[in-house]
Amino acid sequence: MTAPARIVVALGGNAILAKGARGSADEQRATVRRACDGLAALVAAGHELVVTHGNGPQVGRMLIQQRAAQLEVPSMPLDVLDAQTQGQIGYLLQQQLGNALRERGAQRPVVALVTQVVVDPDDPAFASPDNPLGPHFTETELEFRVQRGDGDSSGGPSAAAWVVDGDAYRKVDGGTWRRVVPSPRPLDVVEGDAVARLLEAGVVPVCAGGGGCPVARHDDGTLAGVEAVVDKDRTAALLTRLVSADTLLILTDVEQVALGYGTDAERPLRSATPAEVRRLLADGEFPAGSMGPKVAAAAEVAEHGGRAVITSLDRAADALAGRAGTTIAAG
Ligand code: ADP
Ligand code: MG
Repeated sequence: MTAPARIVVALGGNAILAKGARGSADEQRATVRRACDGLAALVAAGHELVVTHGNGPQVGRMLIQQRAAQLEVPSMPLDVLDAQTQGQIGYLLQQQLGNALRERGAQRPVVALVTQVVVDPDDPAFASPDNPLGPHFTETELEFRVQRGDGDSSGGPSAAAWVVDGDAYRKVDGGTWRRVVPSPRPLDVVEGDAVARLLEAGVVPVCAGGGGCPVARHDDGTLAGVEAVVDKDRTAALLTRLVSADTLLILTDVEQVALGYGTDAERPLRSATPAEVRRLLADGEFPAGSMGPKVAAAAEVAEHGGRAVITSLDRAADALAGRAGTTIAAG
């Protein structure tokens, strides 16, 4: 039995939409229910949870819907799409976590909160968008859209950048093209105080989904949405500090972080200090699109005196007790 802790849980995409699933509402509800059984066990063990989650597949599907209906319905920008996914995923989590808690006799209010995250409009990420988002396109499909001329286009398939209808695209492994969007660093969570107050009131908050709706804060304090996405693991690390949580628990589809991942020399990394993982990150040990941001988020939490644990949903309790997963903490 581990001592009760205040834990920010970051749920990976797989906990909401299983890999290879079509993604119907019933499929997502069933997958979310399984994740919530695991989360309810943590609450029943006495931990205080803040739940955050990814939204990549869901926002990708909305972009497909928008493209299909663009002549009839105006498209929404990325900050609004993030809010929509916080609504749909947050709703499923609040319903299914509520059900799972009730079944365990550990009933608590679960509240999904639309959450804004402040970014710097001068963040270098805006000059070089590199976060792939949404459906894959062939070169022919993009050429067709350039010829139809709906919006500004520049560059092309052989140039360094290809802008089509005002959006930047990049060729990905396999030869198809994907939209790339800026992923600036999260600086503040606008609703951070409200989340802390919900915790004090015994509520389980579901917040900062998809890394939060990115907003810029002007000098007079007003907020305005920006066209970007924020990495959910980075926002989870920030949230861990803002609500003074002891632990960031990153739940993904592998049991632990590996060194030499995918090679013959692959071996589990059971524990490390932030300095050790910063060195590994600098050596390029972890890919930017998957394990890199998780390890960086873990290092950030550990550098501020907290503990970060990276594991899979079914090993969560064991990992919190140090019997599984990867733990990053000051040595
Ligand atoms: P999530 O949806 O949970 O954010 P990601 O796909 O972004 O998940 O990241 C998890 C994936 O990272 C794993 O499925 C695994 O394939 C990959 N991965 C890359 N490098 C490593 C590593 N060094 N150790 C473990 N997994 C790794
Ligand atoms: Mg990810």
